[in-house]
Amino acid sequence: LAQLYAPLNQLGYVYRSMNQSLVDTEKLLALLNEPTEVNDKPNAPDLIVNDGEIEFDNVNFSYDGRTTALNGVSFKVPKGASVALVGESGAGKSTILRLLYRFYDLGEGDGRILIDGQDIRDVTQKSLRQAIGVVPQDSILFNSSIGYNIGYGKLGATPEDIEAAAKSAQMHERIISFPDGYETKVGERGVRLSGGEKQRVAIARTLLKNPPILLLDEATSALDTSTEKDIQKALQNLVQGRSSLSIAHRLSTIASADVILVLKDGQIVEQGSHKELLAHDGIFASMWADQISSTGEVAVSLDGSSTK
Ligand code: ATP
Repeated sequence: LAQLYAPLNQLGYVYRSMNQSLVDTEKLLALLNEPTEVNDKPNAPDLIVNDGEIEFDNVNFSYDGRTTALNGVSFKVPKGASVALVGESGAGKSTILRLLYRFYDLGEGDGRILIDGQDIRDVTQKSLRQAIGVVPQDSILFNSSIGYNIGYGKLGATPEDIEAAAKSAQMHERIISFPDGYETKVGERGVRLSGGEKQRVAIARTLLKNPPILLLDEATSALDTSTEKDIQKALQNLVQGRSSLSIAHRLSTIASADVILVLKDGQIVEQGSHKELLAHDGIFASMWADQISSTGEVAVSLDGSSTK
């Protein structure tokens, strides 16, 4: 998936109309895979976001009408909370993000997805997507200046807005090390940014957009320690005060989430805080032990105790 970004209300449009000569050729975010047409109801009102509380209420979903992608999924993301989705490949993590972004509508009798009590099928897609920021694994960069690439998050962003967002996203120092600073061209015909740098550009764009709800698809690729720290700090600044749903691969993100949902075959099989799930000693605890032994990391949980 590639991701994308941009004024979210234009995402689908950008994806479909993207001119390959204008953007990097990397794949668009999985979130954007094969979106089907979703139509607004006649005279649909705009979504009104007060708290940004998200609820999945007994959601069932199948892409092809035969195999189940989600089965009876229910959970809430309270105002400002961070919820991490974990589970093996194919468990349904991306499907949850795609449904919330309304790439597909749920069928009658297949449950409901609510934001602040409003069924997302009943409101305009535009207002829904304006309320949601997406930070994908791989962000698209336009062949333009780094400043333009960040300012794209907000119509009329001033140079001061862009610099403040870059600072908060831990990208400012890197940008001023470029030959032309914020005017430096990036993308295929300019300075090539690393995966971690592109992700911080996406974080800066999203900070400018300032949405109450965030969807994050963490990169699976290994990052060096200083990049990891920068991204962690940038993400902390971004999720602060917003309701977030993250596909979480990093131990640090998983450990600091308010709630972790463990998915298996389209169902939530465990949920709770990191501490609760470790104490439960089930699927999550064994996934956690595997990750720690494969990365060699010592993870420190919220109470400061080492889990290794
Ligand atoms: P990963 O970690 O590999 O991204 P995931 O947990 O995000 O996996 P999903 O992408 O949500 O898993 O997939 C859930 C199920 O739906 C899987 O069985 C998958 O094969 C199926 N699926 C996903 N996307 C599509 C699609 N566009 N068309 C048909 N089936 C799909």
